[in-house]
Amino acid sequence: MKAKGVQRTPTTDNSQRTTSGFKEGLERDSTVEERVHNFNAGPAALPLPVLKEVKENFLDLHGSGMSITEISHRSSLFEEIINDAFDMTRRLLQLSDDYHVLFIQGGASLQFCMVPMNLCLPGRPVDYINTGIWSTRAIKEAQIQGKDVRIIATSEDGGFTYLPTDYTVDRQASYVHFTSNNTIMGTQWRQFPDGEGVPLISDMSSDFMSRPVDVKPFGLIYAGAQKNLGPAGVAMVIIREDMLRRVPDNLPTMLKYTTARDNRSLFNTPPTFAIYVIGLVLRWLEETIGGLKEMERINEEKASLVYEVIDKSEVYQGVAERRSRSMMNVTFRLPDDELEQRFLAEAIENGFHGLKGHRAIGGCRASLYNAVTIESVKSLTAFMREFEERSI
Ligand SMILES: *Cc1c(COP(=O)(O)O)cnc(C)c1O
Repeated sequence: MKAKGVQRTPTTDNSQRTTSGFKEGLERDSTVEERVHNFNAGPAALPLPVLKEVKENFLDLHGSGMSITEISHRSSLFEEIINDAFDMTRRLLQLSDDYHVLFIQGGASLQFCMVPMNLCLPGRPVDYINTGIWSTRAIKEAQIQGKDVRIIATSEDGGFTYLPTDYTVDRQASYVHFTSNNTIMGTQWRQFPDGEGVPLISDMSSDFMSRPVDVKPFGLIYAGAQKNLGPAGVAMVIIREDMLRRVPDNLPTMLKYTTARDNRSLFNTPPTFAIYVIGLVLRWLEETIGGLKEMERINEEKASLVYEVIDKSEVYQGVAERRSRSMMNVTFRLPDDELEQRFLAEAIENGFHGLKGHRAIGGCRASLYNAVTIESVKSLTAFMREFEERSI
């Protein structure tokens, strides 16, 4: 039965034959359209209960007779929504009072620019660890502003397939910037770099809220929402009070962290829908999952299921070095282009979407963000095993 209005995967005779086996893990509900196993890298899967709640309340939000997209950002209804999101973030990350939670538009990419603009101390260098395409972009934005950018470690020589362990932090540095999870190559810092007292700044776009984080060494953490937190259109920023004192007076109003802090992220109209959905995702994390420690346990289990298939396989080859592997984005290749294309095509026919690697590196990538269920991952590993058996 096909639900109306939902974009369907084109089916072929071949898919009719193979589809049935791998659909078990999908949550079914007669009121919900048929869904697929979603391994997209971003925008990415959201928890089904959250999507259902959005749908149920869309025409009439909490008895207001209006949709979330139709109410004022100054209304008490929206105030409650954004304040709840702040409170849940504080509880999930166990933030102390000296940390502020901000919503800023422009995605993670605007943070590449705002971080050096706001937090570089006059006459002092800014240190970066380069572990991939996103780090490289962050570095470029600091360079454009003429900052004294030092790349204290890089894994570019190895095609960014590992995380560098050798680096020296200069106490003079304004901050040390690193990318906690490298979405494209599939590497992740399991233990964060040691800033030796220099504030750490991290782009956590693709693993934010996937595990507990001790925020104390961090001056600032930012994350584009569309990987693990909600819809695109906003970044969440966690900033420590002392960092706010660095913000120069002469910056454009919208580009100052202090503007967002002073106005509780309501200086101008924020992306109200995105913030509403983020609030629902945070509640799901807190109440349904039971917090970040439990989320981490589930994420580790999911990742190890896929890595186990790769490690025992003669067909799938992991891209990232073992010690640097990501729990969130599992990257792998098949021995030749033709087989890889066949794998990706058959995956889609069997209901597994989003497995094509980033356009910059090709190959395959399974993004296992918070909302991707263990059942979906088990279906994927069963399909991978079955495909391998047929291919060798
Ligand atoms: C996706 C991603 C970005 C880019 O995010 P935008 O919100 O599109 O600017 C930056 N950093 C990392 C680690 C990412 O995964």
